[in-house]
Amino acid sequence: GTPTALMVGSGMGAEKGILIRNGEAIQTFKEVKAIAFDKTGTITKGKPEVTDLVMVDGVEEKEFLYYAGTIENGSEHPLAHAIVEKAKNEKIKLGEVIDFNAIVGMGVVGNIDGEKILVGNRKLMKENKVSYEAYEEELIRLEEEAKTAMMLAKGNQLLGIVAVADPIKEDSAQAIAALESMGIKTAMITGDNKRTAAAIGRKVGISHVIAEVLPDGKVEEVVRLQEKYGTVAMVGDGINDAPALKQANVGIAIGTGTDIAIEAADVTLVRGELSGIISAIKLSRAIFKKIK
Ligand code: ADP
Ligand code: MG
Repeated sequence: GTPTALMVGSGMGAEKGILIRNGEAIQTFKEVKAIAFDKTGTITKGKPEVTDLVMVDGVEEKEFLYYAGTIENGSEHPLAHAIVEKAKNEKIKLGEVIDFNAIVGMGVVGNIDGEKILVGNRKLMKENKVSYEAYEEELIRLEEEAKTAMMLAKGNQLLGIVAVADPIKEDSAQAIAALESMGIKTAMITGDNKRTAAAIGRKVGISHVIAEVLPDGKVEEVVRLQEKYGTVAMVGDGINDAPALKQANVGIAIGTGTDIAIEAADVTLVRGELSGIISAIKLSRAIFKKIK
């Protein structure tokens, strides 16, 4: 009967590194028509590193990294960690920031040594009347290399660009190809810019890329996929993925991610490997074929 099948399913899942918190998920997996993935920490390793520094003429990298490292020291964002690490590796002594503010989907603002410092994307620069048009081509080049490019401004003066790359997990492309070959649609939902997201999407072969989504917008995107495809799974690791994991018919958390995401999900991929999802779907299809 079903209860026995669920127990067997849970046992087999555990072997493959899939932790099932909600037994119903084993039944739902076989119905899944589309899977939405968060980008950072889900498709990628979530360990970004600084790859490029592009200075405006006359700006010293040391000054740039002092401001960038000091302000990002106040942020929890993986992009911020990458910048702080870079400043530390270059032996920059960081300063103090006052009036620090993290602006969702845009970047960070604060006051360092009496100067207003901003680090973030185009939206942040536009809002603060910083002109960066002369660097648009540079930004595009970096983004097409799948990097996230951020700009730093002092007052309304651009000082330069810092680009960060987050390596893709070893099994992401393979897992996505396997899902597509099983007839399941794949989508990526991210707050990152469209060009970077598209470049990563191409690298892993994901069919649908939804970029520049604010954290609150992930739920809406899952609803939209449900309207289009029916049963939808969502995979994510972050605090701001939790509502979307709840909204999905199956919420799948990355075991190395935040506790909030794990608690919101039905299933956890213990080692964070996306291939666990394929095992879960195959398991679900196999078990319920036997029951019928
Ligand atoms: P994601 O889900 O991809 O991490 P977020 O919504 O957290 O997206 O961030 C979207 C964008 O906002 C980033 O790609 C970056 O351009 C900018 N941003 C967010 N936080 C920071 C930060 N601490 N420093 C600089 N830029 C940031
Ligand atoms: Mg994430």
